[in-house]
Amino acid sequence: MGSKPIIDLRSDTVTQPTPGMRDTMSNAPLGDDVFGEDPTVNALEERLAAMFGYEAGLFCPSGTMTNQIGIKAHTQPLQEIICHRESHIYCYEGGGMAFNSQLSTRLLTGNKGLITVQQVLDNINEENVHKPVTSIVAQENTTNREGGTVHRVGEYEKVYVVCQQHGLKHHLDGARLFNALVATGDTPASYGKAFDSISICLSKGLGAPVGSVLVGNKDFIKLSRRIRKVFGGGMRQAGVIAAAGLYAIDNHIVRLADDHRRAKQLEGVLKDKSYVAEVFPVDSNLVIFRLADDMLANTFIANLQSHGILAINMGPQLVRFVTHLDVDDADVDRVCEVLEEI
Ligand SMILES: *Cc1c(COP(=O)(O)O)cnc(C)c1O
Repeated sequence: MGSKPIIDLRSDTVTQPTPGMRDTMSNAPLGDDVFGEDPTVNALEERLAAMFGYEAGLFCPSGTMTNQIGIKAHTQPLQEIICHRESHIYCYEGGGMAFNSQLSTRLLTGNKGLITVQQVLDNINEENVHKPVTSIVAQENTTNREGGTVHRVGEYEKVYVVCQQHGLKHHLDGARLFNALVATGDTPASYGKAFDSISICLSKGLGAPVGSVLVGNKDFIKLSRRIRKVFGGGMRQAGVIAAAGLYAIDNHIVRLADDHRRAKQLEGVLKDKSYVAEVFPVDSNLVIFRLADDMLANTFIANLQSHGILAINMGPQLVRFVTHLDVDDADVDRVCEVLEEI
């Protein structure tokens, strides 16, 4: 270890804004965004909305907030949401769907986090006083807890057809959607045609310090803006952080392919290790692996930490590595060396 800097593989949220990003932030024109007068926030919202082929966008402090607002704007209390058992909205948003939107939750399994046409058809409640009214399907791409699995837009297009036939909204938690776009070549505009709303995080792989954007049609975003105010998410000279998001869109999308290549390198080394039972197939920048025998993730993570490498657990025996803007080729080579030694 000695003077070697820490290599932080816990999450792609740990990145520091680059010098160029900081410059852009400090020079951004600002105004009061609750009055709709911050030109930088407006530019960011318009930019992402246009990219995905929607009418409007809404800048929020977090991806949790963009998901929760989107779900609330699409639903009424006593309705039911169809989502995956491993989804972020269910696992990591503090029960917000019940608290914020008073929804009943239908949890599905399998298909690496994708909710399929057949699953939607099998899980729409019939008209019956005992049952909540099914009103929304929420997807996630890439899928965090499945190990960054990437799904193709064609899958969602098929589901959207069924959603529209049955009067259901289709929401995408696209926290890492740009990773999926870079990995597949699918276009943002094709996603806009497959969902009623999309939540996009700027503070994950894109490397901005704060912020997420919700995109959708004008009426939906108008209602979402009211809900954001109620949630306490109306910010004032927010352009200072929105500028980082604009910079990230201009400069940090194409480079996501480097993160994916580095994650593949880690997967390749982990696969051959006797202390690893299973590596989840790596599609993007997340590497999740299960330790062999009864080795505990926390013990393994403590061992890595003594070599200056940080990771987190995703379960008692599951470890997660995430590659990102602040991890370069030399860092990954160093991690691979340590993985060979321990
Ligand atoms: C990180 C993440 C979010 C949003 O998280 P915040 O920390 O609230 O910005 C939402 N969905 C997924 C899949 C995520 O990984």
